[in-house]
Amino acid sequence: PESFLSVRDLKVQFSTEDGIVKAVDGLSFDVERGKTLGIVGESGSGKSVTNLTILGLHNPRTTTVDGEIVLDGKELVTATEKELEKLRGNNMAMIFQDPLTALSPYYTVGRQLSEPFMKHNGASKKEAKDRAVQMLEKVGIPQPEMRFDDYPHQFSGGMRQRAMIAMALMCDPDLLIADEPTTALDVTVQAQILDLLKDLQQEFGTAIIFITHDLGVISNMADDLLVMYAGRAVERGSVRDVLRSPMHPYSWGLLSSMPRLDGNIHEELTPIPGTPPSLLNPPSGCPFHPRCAFKDEVEGSRCTDERPSLAEGRAAACHLTAEQKQTIFIDQIQPR
Ligand code: SF4
Ligand code: MG
Repeated sequence: PESFLSVRDLKVQFSTEDGIVKAVDGLSFDVERGKTLGIVGESGSGKSVTNLTILGLHNPRTTTVDGEIVLDGKELVTATEKELEKLRGNNMAMIFQDPLTALSPYYTVGRQLSEPFMKHNGASKKEAKDRAVQMLEKVGIPQPEMRFDDYPHQFSGGMRQRAMIAMALMCDPDLLIADEPTTALDVTVQAQILDLLKDLQQEFGTAIIFITHDLGVISNMADDLLVMYAGRAVERGSVRDVLRSPMHPYSWGLLSSMPRLDGNIHEELTPIPGTPPSLLNPPSGCPFHPRCAFKDEVEGSRCTDERPSLAEGRAAACHLTAEQKQTIFIDQIQPR
């Protein structure tokens, strides 16, 4: 399978008054064209930072980025701001939880959709308006021609969310990053928007990175799943494999509320005991060891001394043996 987005050994560090924060610490993953990668993890696990870094929206004065981000053959870590801006207009787009972070209250919805399109695609005002109206229609805004000159506050919450998605889709992005895009919406609108994203993915072959705390949404939307902890990937696999038989103690905690059968589930990820690690001063060895109930199963002091690596493909970064991972999951974790 062709990797459309390839992230290799990504490290993102912020300098703060208290020292260096290792927000992302050696992260690698791939997204195929037309596929969806779900990312789960507690807040502070590095999900949002990773995505802002891919888009080049981090603050270059306080942030150091190392490693590789290759989108369709283009290296983004070393790209100039100008190149990134062009990519953001033509190739990649983002939708957020709160549409007001993307939509300005000062301009009409129509203007906010059409102006970037004119700028990046050299379209005329008329072409840009036609496209904007078409996109508003696609996302299910009734009478889009009439709503074109409305301001965001004249839209309901669900409509603003749709307008933001329309804005993200104006340029037919090859990569769409969705960070908790439907959390604030009621279940019906949420379902409509998720269906819409799937349709658009089918139509345009968009690769999607989807961040959410909702396991129902993940199992419905994602092809592959990445579990992040302390700025690292701790488990990876197809969404089906990871949800059915997770292999990492952190995933066991996080996913333990997962009902065994799919369907119309909207279960939140379970908060797990203990606090997320300080990224100013990360734990030695396995970053999960201060909270892990299984570290005594591993020989010696490997959990506190040695950082577990994540193998390629279906894998979990944990010193337990493959057999232990399976036995513990079946005997102690899996609900009966
Ligand atoms: Fe737990 Fe050790 Fe595995 Fe880390 S490496 S998750 S501490 S068992
Ligand atoms: Mg976030």
